[in-house]
Amino acid sequence: MSAIDDLAGELARLPGIGRKTALRLTYHLLRQPAEQSKKLAAALSTLAERVKPCAKCFNLTEEEICSFCSDVRRDQTVICAVEEASDIGAIERAGEFRGLYHVLGGRLSPLDGIGPEDLTISQLETRVAAGGVTEVILATNPSIEGEATALYVQRKLARYPLVVSRIARGMPVGGDLEYADGVTIAQALTARRVMT
Ligand code: ZN
Repeated sequence: MSAIDDLAGELARLPGIGRKTALRLTYHLLRQPAEQSKKLAAALSTLAERVKPCAKCFNLTEEEICSFCSDVRRDQTVICAVEEASDIGAIERAGEFRGLYHVLGGRLSPLDGIGPEDLTISQLETRVAAGGVTEVILATNPSIEGEATALYVQRKLARYPLVVSRIARGMPVGGDLEYADGVTIAQALTARRVMT
């Protein structure tokens, strides 16, 4: 396989990039000074080496514990569970939530072979079991899988003395939290309902 096909093949694996765009990007890089491609390669390599899941909440971080978990000013009694680390940025931009996070690492999707053991649900349960948490807000996306995931986690946490709530359906069904605007997310958080 040629170097051009090799890179185009790797780029085409990224979300939103088809074969045609991958080739266009590859040829674009070839037209740039070689230094540019080396910088890109170094940045990718550093990313893979340094960024890893937080030992507590699975947010992505370059430290052992992420900046949210190590911030004592944040409300330690409330945990907001999200599907992906990228959802945290969206919630933070809304400026409504001051508690801790838990990144589930995706959503239950039997068709794709993703079961509870593939997510960090048991680690969330461990955090809850350790005590001190009074509420878990389930902020999974309002898709069928996101709802199923929220329901599964709620049942897992039902035996603990805390409130499990679900963000309101302020967002369009199937909409991604990551792309929702701050006002919508703030409303969805404020109007959250207790799951029973
Ligand atoms: Zn963390």
